Amino acid sequence: MSIGNNLNQIKASLPNNVTLVAVSKTKPNQAIIEAYEAGQHIFGENKIQEMTEKFEVLPKDIQWHMIGHVQRNKVKYIAPYVSLIHGVDSFKLLQEINKQAKKHNRIIPCLLQIFIAKEETKFGLDKTELFEILNSEEFKALENISIKGLMGMATFTDNESIIRQEFISLKEIYDEVNQKFGHLENLDITTLSMGMSNDYKIAIECGSTMIRIGSSIFGSRNY
Ligand SMILES: *Cc1c(COP(=O)(O)O)cnc(C)c1O
Repeated sequence: MSIGNNLNQIKASLPNNVTLVAVSKTKPNQAIIEAYEAGQHIFGENKIQEMTEKFEVLPKDIQWHMIGHVQRNKVKYIAPYVSLIHGVDSFKLLQEINKQAKKHNRIIPCLLQIFIAKEETKFGLDKTELFEILNSEEFKALENISIKGLMGMATFTDNESIIRQEFISLKEIYDEVNQKFGHLENLDITTLSMGMSNDYKIAIECGSTMIRIGSSIFGSRNY
Protein backbone atom coordinates (compact mmCIF):
# COMPACT_ATOMS: atom_id res chain seq x y z
CA MET A 1 0.00 0.00 0.00
CA SER A 2 1.19 3.52 -0.78
CA ILE A 3 1.32 6.34 1.76
CA GLY A 4 -1.55 8.06 -0.05
CA ASN A 5 -3.70 4.94 0.06
CA ASN A 6 -2.97 4.38 3.74
CA LEU A 7 -3.95 7.97 4.50
CA ASN A 8 -7.16 7.83 2.53
CA GLN A 9 -8.19 4.62 4.17
CA ILE A 10 -7.62 5.96 7.69
CA LYS A 11 -9.30 9.30 6.93
CA ALA A 12 -12.37 7.61 5.49
CA SER A 13 -12.86 5.76 8.77
CA LEU A 14 -12.64 8.84 11.01
CA PRO A 15 -15.59 10.78 12.45
CA ASN A 16 -15.71 14.43 11.29
CA ASN A 17 -14.57 15.86 14.61
CA VAL A 18 -11.34 13.84 14.76
CA THR A 19 -8.13 15.44 13.44
CA LEU A 20 -5.37 13.26 12.05
CA VAL A 21 -1.74 14.07 12.87
CA ALA A 22 0.61 12.15 10.56
CA VAL A 23 3.62 11.19 12.67
CA SER A 24 6.62 11.53 10.36
CA LYS A 25 9.48 11.12 12.85
CA THR A 26 12.50 9.34 11.35
CA LYS A 27 10.85 9.46 7.89
CA PRO A 28 12.54 11.20 4.94
CA ASN A 29 11.18 14.39 3.35
CA GLN A 30 10.11 12.41 0.30
CA ALA A 31 7.64 10.41 2.40
CA ILE A 32 6.24 13.63 3.89
CA ILE A 33 5.82 15.14 0.40
CA GLU A 34 3.94 12.04 -0.66
CA ALA A 35 1.53 12.44 2.25
CA TYR A 36 1.30 16.19 1.64
CA GLU A 37 0.34 15.63 -1.97
CA ALA A 38 -2.35 13.23 -0.80
CA GLY A 39 -3.85 16.14 1.16
CA GLN A 40 -2.26 15.72 4.61
CA HIS A 41 -1.00 19.04 6.02
CA ILE A 42 -0.56 18.26 9.74
CA PHE A 43 2.60 16.41 10.74
CA GLY A 44 3.96 15.34 14.13
CA GLU A 45 7.62 15.03 15.08
CA ASN A 46 9.24 14.11 18.39
CA LYS A 47 12.68 15.72 18.03
CA ILE A 48 13.19 19.48 17.90
CA GLN A 49 16.16 19.43 15.54
CA GLU A 50 14.61 16.98 13.10
CA MET A 51 11.35 18.93 13.00
CA THR A 52 13.14 22.24 12.46
CA GLU A 53 15.22 20.84 9.60
CA LYS A 54 12.06 19.54 7.94
CA PHE A 55 10.20 22.81 8.54
CA GLU A 56 12.95 24.73 6.77
CA VAL A 57 12.77 22.84 3.50
CA LEU A 58 9.18 21.57 3.25
CA PRO A 59 6.05 23.54 2.16
CA LYS A 60 5.26 26.47 4.43
CA ASP A 61 1.58 25.62 4.87
CA ILE A 62 2.44 22.44 6.77
CA GLN A 63 1.35 22.60 10.41
CA TRP A 64 4.07 21.13 12.61
CA HIS A 65 3.09 19.48 15.89
CA MET A 66 5.72 18.67 18.51
CA ILE A 67 4.56 15.39 20.05
CA GLY A 68 7.72 14.39 21.94
CA HIS A 69 9.26 15.44 25.21
CA VAL A 70 10.50 19.05 25.05
CA GLN A 71 13.59 20.29 26.84
CA ARG A 72 13.29 23.86 28.02
CA ASN A 73 16.54 25.03 26.43
CA LYS A 74 15.28 23.95 22.98
CA VAL A 75 11.90 25.69 22.95
CA LYS A 76 13.47 28.68 21.24
CA TYR A 77 14.09 26.70 18.04
CA ILE A 78 10.42 25.82 17.47
CA ALA A 79 8.78 28.93 18.94
CA PRO A 80 8.67 30.82 15.60
CA TYR A 81 6.67 28.18 13.76
CA VAL A 82 5.25 25.32 15.85
CA SER A 83 1.45 24.87 15.53
CA LEU A 84 0.80 22.77 18.63
CA ILE A 85 2.99 21.39 21.42
CA HIS A 86 1.41 18.16 22.71
CA GLY A 87 3.78 17.18 25.48
CA VAL A 88 3.80 20.01 28.01
CA ASP A 89 4.44 18.32 31.35
CA SER A 90 5.63 21.03 33.74
CA PHE A 91 4.86 24.59 34.71
CA LYS A 92 8.48 25.60 34.09
CA LEU A 93 8.22 24.39 30.51
CA LEU A 94 5.01 26.32 30.07
CA GLN A 95 6.72 29.47 31.35
CA GLU A 96 9.55 29.01 28.86
CA ILE A 97 7.11 28.48 25.97
CA ASN A 98 5.29 31.65 27.05
CA LYS A 99 8.55 33.60 27.13
CA GLN A 100 9.67 32.43 23.68
CA ALA A 101 6.20 32.96 22.21
CA LYS A 102 6.25 36.54 23.46
CA LYS A 103 9.55 37.18 21.68
CA HIS A 104 7.87 36.19 18.43
CA ASN A 105 4.72 38.09 19.23
CA ARG A 106 2.57 34.98 19.08
CA ILE A 107 0.36 32.79 21.21
CA ILE A 108 1.52 29.16 21.10
CA PRO A 109 -1.19 26.49 21.38
CA CYS A 110 -0.29 23.74 23.89
CA LEU A 111 -1.66 20.51 25.28
CA LEU A 112 -0.87 19.37 28.79
CA GLN A 113 0.39 15.79 28.85
CA ILE A 114 -1.23 13.58 31.45
CA PHE A 115 0.31 10.37 32.71
CA ILE A 116 -2.25 7.59 32.35
CA ALA A 117 -0.15 4.50 31.60
CA LYS A 118 1.16 1.84 33.94
CA GLU A 119 4.69 2.27 32.59
CA GLU A 120 7.21 4.39 34.40
CA THR A 121 8.93 5.51 31.23
CA LYS A 122 6.16 7.76 29.98
CA PHE A 123 6.11 11.47 30.74
CA GLY A 124 3.23 13.48 32.04
CA LEU A 125 1.46 15.21 34.91
CA ASP A 126 -0.89 13.50 37.33
CA LYS A 127 -4.27 15.03 38.09
CA THR A 128 -3.10 16.75 41.28
CA GLU A 129 -0.18 18.42 39.50
CA LEU A 130 -2.46 19.45 36.63
CA PHE A 131 -4.98 21.13 38.92
CA GLU A 132 -2.20 22.81 40.90
CA ILE A 133 -0.96 24.43 37.71
CA LEU A 134 -4.39 25.52 36.51
CA ASN A 135 -5.31 26.92 39.93
CA SER A 136 -2.18 29.03 40.29
CA GLU A 137 -2.05 32.80 39.81
CA GLU A 138 1.23 32.40 37.90
CA PHE A 139 -0.58 30.31 35.31
CA LYS A 140 -3.27 32.93 34.79
CA ALA A 141 -0.56 35.49 34.06
CA LEU A 142 0.76 33.57 31.01
CA GLU A 143 -0.60 35.53 28.06
CA ASN A 144 1.36 33.97 25.19
CA ILE A 145 0.21 30.38 25.53
CA SER A 146 -3.22 28.90 24.97
CA ILE A 147 -4.08 25.53 26.49
CA LYS A 148 -6.16 23.65 23.92
CA GLY A 149 -6.62 20.47 25.90
CA LEU A 150 -4.86 17.31 27.04
CA MET A 151 -2.65 14.58 25.57
CA GLY A 152 -1.98 11.10 26.85
CA MET A 153 -0.48 7.75 25.88
CA ALA A 154 -1.94 4.43 26.96
CA THR A 155 0.13 1.51 28.19
CA PHE A 156 1.75 -0.50 25.39
CA THR A 157 -0.22 -3.73 25.75
CA ASP A 158 -2.51 -6.11 23.86
CA ASN A 159 -5.01 -5.88 26.69
CA GLU A 160 -7.77 -3.70 25.27
CA SER A 161 -9.54 -3.25 28.56
CA ILE A 162 -6.46 -1.66 30.16
CA ILE A 163 -6.13 0.73 27.20
CA ARG A 164 -9.82 1.58 27.31
CA GLN A 165 -9.70 2.25 31.07
CA GLU A 166 -6.78 4.63 30.62
CA PHE A 167 -8.45 6.54 27.80
CA ILE A 168 -11.70 6.81 29.77
CA SER A 169 -9.80 8.23 32.74
CA LEU A 170 -8.15 10.84 30.51
CA LYS A 171 -11.51 11.82 29.00
CA GLU A 172 -12.90 12.30 32.52
CA ILE A 173 -10.04 14.62 33.47
CA TYR A 174 -10.50 16.49 30.17
CA ASP A 175 -14.20 17.09 30.88
CA GLU A 176 -13.43 18.22 34.41
CA VAL A 177 -10.77 20.68 33.21
CA ASN A 178 -13.22 22.14 30.73
CA GLN A 179 -15.89 22.50 33.38
CA LYS A 180 -13.70 23.97 36.12
CA PHE A 181 -11.22 26.06 34.14
CA GLY A 182 -12.85 26.66 30.75
CA HIS A 183 -13.55 30.27 31.72
CA LEU A 184 -9.85 31.21 32.00
CA GLU A 185 -8.44 33.52 29.32
CA ASN A 186 -5.58 31.22 28.33
CA LEU A 187 -7.67 28.05 28.11
CA ASP A 188 -9.67 27.15 25.04
CA ILE A 189 -10.48 23.48 25.43
CA THR A 190 -11.12 21.79 22.08
CA THR A 191 -8.58 19.01 21.79
CA LEU A 192 -8.12 15.61 23.37
CA SER A 193 -5.02 14.06 21.78
CA MET A 194 -5.08 10.29 22.32
CA GLY A 195 -4.66 7.30 20.07
CA MET A 196 -1.82 5.90 17.93
CA SER A 197 -1.69 3.26 15.18
CA ASN A 198 -2.43 0.38 17.52
CA ASP A 199 -5.11 1.94 19.70
CA TYR A 200 -6.74 4.87 17.89
CA LYS A 201 -10.05 3.09 17.30
CA ILE A 202 -10.46 2.56 21.04
CA ALA A 203 -9.34 6.17 21.66
CA ILE A 204 -12.03 7.52 19.34
CA GLU A 205 -14.69 5.45 21.08
CA CYS A 206 -13.51 7.04 24.33
CA GLY A 207 -13.78 10.62 23.03
CA SER A 208 -10.48 11.42 21.31
CA THR A 209 -10.55 14.42 18.96
CA MET A 210 -6.96 14.11 17.70
CA ILE A 211 -5.07 10.95 16.80
CA ARG A 212 -1.32 10.65 16.17
CA ILE A 213 -0.62 8.00 13.53
CA GLY A 214 2.83 7.00 12.29
CA SER A 215 3.38 3.40 11.26
CA SER A 216 -0.09 2.82 9.78
CA ILE A 217 0.63 5.64 7.31
CA PHE A 218 4.37 5.44 6.67
CA GLY A 219 5.12 1.81 7.51
CA SER A 220 7.03 0.64 10.55
CA ARG A 221 10.06 2.56 11.75
CA ASN A 222 13.43 0.87 11.63
CA TYR A 223 15.13 1.80 14.91
C1 LIG B 1 5.72 7.74 17.56
C2 LIG B 1 4.57 8.37 18.24
C3 LIG B 1 3.26 8.19 17.76
C4 LIG B 1 2.92 7.34 16.54
O1 LIG B 1 3.10 6.00 16.82
P1 LIG B 1 2.63 4.85 15.77
O2 LIG B 1 2.49 3.64 16.62
O3 LIG B 1 3.70 4.74 14.76
O4 LIG B 1 1.32 5.28 15.19
C5 LIG B 1 2.24 8.84 18.42
N1 LIG B 1 2.47 9.62 19.50
C6 LIG B 1 3.70 9.79 20.01
C7 LIG B 1 3.88 10.65 21.21
C8 LIG B 1 4.79 9.17 19.40
O5 LIG B 1 6.02 9.35 19.90
